[in-house]
Amino acid sequence: MTRVARTVIVKSIKLPRKVFRVFVELEGMYRNMVEQLVMYAVRNSVKSFIRLKALKYREIRNLYPQLPSHYVYTACQDASTRAKSFLRLKKLGIAKREYPEVRKVSIWLDDHLWKPDGYTFVRIATHKGWVAVELELHKQYWRYVNRGWRLASEAKMKLDKKNKQLIICLTFVKEVKEYKPKGYLTVDVNENNITILVDGVAYLFETDTTKLVLGYYYCRKRIQERYDKLYGKKSRIKRKTMRKLKERKKKNDIKWKIANIIVKTAYERGYAVVLEKLGKKPASNMIERVRDKQLRHRIFQASFKGIQKAIEEKAREYGVPIIYEPPKDTSVRCPIHNAPIIYSNGSRIGKCSKGGEPWHRDVVACWNLLLKTLRGNGSNAPSPAGHTPVDVRLVPLASNATHDPITLPKRLWARWNSLETTRTNIKRME
Ligand SMILES: [Zn+2]
Repeated sequence: MTRVARTVIVKSIKLPRKVFRVFVELEGMYRNMVEQLVMYAVRNSVKSFIRLKALKYREIRNLYPQLPSHYVYTACQDASTRAKSFLRLKKLGIAKREYPEVRKVSIWLDDHLWKPDGYTFVRIATHKGWVAVELELHKQYWRYVNRGWRLASEAKMKLDKKNKQLIICLTFVKEVKEYKPKGYLTVDVNENNITILVDGVAYLFETDTTKLVLGYYYCRKRIQERYDKLYGKKSRIKRKTMRKLKERKKKNDIKWKIANIIVKTAYERGYAVVLEKLGKKPASNMIERVRDKQLRHRIFQASFKGIQKAIEEKAREYGVPIIYEPPKDTSVRCPIHNAPIIYSNGSRIGKCSKGGEPWHRDVVACWNLLLKTLRGNGSNAPSPAGHTPVDVRLVPLASNATHDPITLPKRLWARWNSLETTRTNIKRME
C-alpha cells in the first residue's frame, strides 16, 4: 500500500471584519514564533524539529499562553524546515544573509488546530476560541470528495488581506495498492510524438512537444527582453505577465492529458506501463530550431522528464506498476528477426535487413521495450511467477500486429481524453 496525497487549495468566503481580525492577530503571533525559532535554530545549527521543540517549547509557550499550544508545535516544524534549507544554502555558500528572512507565512495546522465541519465548513482553533469558517468550494474539491479521497489532518492557511479571505491548503489522501500486471503497455517518447503499444497495436499520439516547449521558451525570452528594456529588470508588470504566461502554459499542459490516457488504458486492462529509463538520448537531431546544442539537449530532457513524471504520478494514483527498461538500441534491431533495421536518410521508416519488411522506428522501439520486459532483463524485471509466460518469439507476429502505428492527431486525443473514444471517433470519421 502506498499513500497518495494531493493538495487542493480552497478559499473561505469573505469574512466579517471582526472575524478576519482574529486571524490577522493569529498570523502575527505565529510569525513572531517562527522568526524567533528560525533565528535560534540557525544560530545554534539545530536542524531537527524534535530537538528544536525540546529546547524551545517551554519558553515560546510561556510567551504566548493565550494561543492553543499546538501552534507552538507547528511553528517549530515550520521553523525547522526553514532553518534546515537555509543552513544547506549557507553551507553551499549561496545564502546572502546571516539569517533567513521570514517573509511569507503560511500557518501550519495539525489535527488539534483545525477540523472539517461537514463538507462546507472548517473550524479553526484561535486565541479567541474555535472559529467556524465557510468555504468557497469548487469542482476539483468535490471530485476528490466524491472519489473516496479523505482529508489528511495537516493543512496550511494563508491570509488574503485585501479580500479578507483565508486561503487554505488541504491535503487529500488515498491508500492505493499496486497490482500485479497481467500484461504490458510500452511507451516510447519522442520529440514530436509519444508512441504506445498495447495488445499488439501501436498508437502514435502526435504531441508537437518541440513547438510547445520552444514556443514557450521563445515567448518567455521575448517578454523578458522587452520588459527589461521598458521597465528595468525587476518591474512588477513584468512579473505579472510572466506569471500569467506560466499559468497559461500549465493549463495547456498536454503532458497530464497524455499521462491520463496512458495510465487509464493500462489500468483498465490490469497492465503495467513500461518506460525507457531516462538516459543520454542523443539530442543532435532532436530540436533543430535551437542552434545551441546544450540548450537543445536540456529542453528535450526537460520535456521528456516532465512526461515521465506525469505518468509516474498518475500511475501511483491508480496503483499501476511501472517498469523501466534501459533505452539502449531500442529502435535498431528487428523485433522478429533480431537483424539490424536500415533507416536511410534519417527517415523514420526503415527496412529489416533480413526479412525486408518495413518498420516504423517508434513502433520498433515499443516492441523491443516489450520484448526486453518479457525476457526480464530490465532493471525492474517482473518476476516470472507474477504473470503467464508469453512465447517471446511469437509476439510481433500476433494476428493483430502492425508495423505501422495508428496515428492519433493531437486535436482529437486531447479532446476525447481516452484511447477508446479517440479510436471510435477516428473510425467514424473515416
Ligand atoms: Zn525483420
